[in-house]
Amino acid sequence: MYMHGIRKLFRFAGYVVEKISMTDDLAQVNLRRDKRCRLACPACDATMGRNRVKTQTARDLPLGTALQVVLVYEAIQGRCSACGLCTTIHPPGIDDHARATRRLQQFVSRLARFLPLSHIDEVVPVDDATAFRWDKAMLEDTLPLADLDNLRVLLIDEKAVRKHHGYVTLVMNGQTGELLHMAEGKKKASLQSFFDKLSKEQKQRIVAVGMDRAGAYRTVVQAELPDADIVFDKFHLIANYHAVIDEVRRAEWRKASAADKDVIKGQRYNLFRNPINRTGTQTHSLMALLRMNRNLAVAYILKDGLGKLWGYTYRKSAGKYLAKWCGWAAVSGVEALRAFGRSLLRAEEEVLNYCKHRITTARLEAFNNTVSRLMHRACGVRDMGYLYLKLRQESLSGGPPN
Ligand SMILES: [Zn+2]
Repeated sequence: MYMHGIRKLFRFAGYVVEKISMTDDLAQVNLRRDKRCRLACPACDATMGRNRVKTQTARDLPLGTALQVVLVYEAIQGRCSACGLCTTIHPPGIDDHARATRRLQQFVSRLARFLPLSHIDEVVPVDDATAFRWDKAMLEDTLPLADLDNLRVLLIDEKAVRKHHGYVTLVMNGQTGELLHMAEGKKKASLQSFFDKLSKEQKQRIVAVGMDRAGAYRTVVQAELPDADIVFDKFHLIANYHAVIDEVRRAEWRKASAADKDVIKGQRYNLFRNPINRTGTQTHSLMALLRMNRNLAVAYILKDGLGKLWGYTYRKSAGKYLAKWCGWAAVSGVEALRAFGRSLLRAEEEVLNYCKHRITTARLEAFNNTVSRLMHRACGVRDMGYLYLKLRQESLSGGPPN
């Protein structure tokens, strides 16, 4: 009989399968307490006396075409004469509070890594609020605590979440990619709460911190890690420079004649695009723009020049090149470029620290895609604690699933 094999799927210590009844989409498994097994006290292991038996149900994993599987079992209220404990005994592996087996909860949690919570009921009949609770509890139970003992490089960045939540501050281990901290806001306090978790020894092991030069993080890091090098992030600096080019483009557009406006129009992305990604037409219209407008041509040429800064291996050569570049910006005759050059010189130390540590926040930036994806899913942002657990899960599993 097939049922014999199926019974093995419902082995719960102290219980025997009495009956399995199935329709196409529903299965009911009746479990009976095995009379041969004594009732052991969970606290002191002495044999308990039974006070009352009541019938309870718990949901379990799907079985073939039966997506809905219900275990019907005897829960036994017992009293321990040795230690006095009064408790109800359920089959092991059943969460009586959730009225479900732990293996069903694990399965739902695994599904929640790949599916939005609202789609889980297409696989198992569990609504999104329940899936959310189970997944959160499972992650709280199973994810290891953040490893704060072996930190050498930190990456810090902010990430915009949905409007009413503003920003979150993220801290990542720059070597392993493990997400260590998430706090609402992008102010000092959002980062301070991370350092408050570290001991003096843990802080002393940190040698470098990669971050954006804008924002409030720098002063916190300087106060907390006086010996660590701050590295201003290459990608943020390049993005800052793109914003400067855009400022120049808008200023030039305002000054331009009607005919010239046509040439400037729609060139925003052409100015930032990597030359190898440009089509022939795009190159043609960009060249027309650069021939026509001197200030934009200068800004564009300096963009290429800026990118070369991170090709240097030796700090001294990089320093010479940085000074040269800022010199070009200073004589460019374009105020926005001069201002950018000055700000870069002020941050010289942190920009050149790249040569020593060669870290960028690229890992954290890439992780931002995971953040966005998870936040688009239901419940992602409503519960920040859950979002943090989901992000930590992805960061520990070596990147997002495809
Ligand atoms: Zn006891």
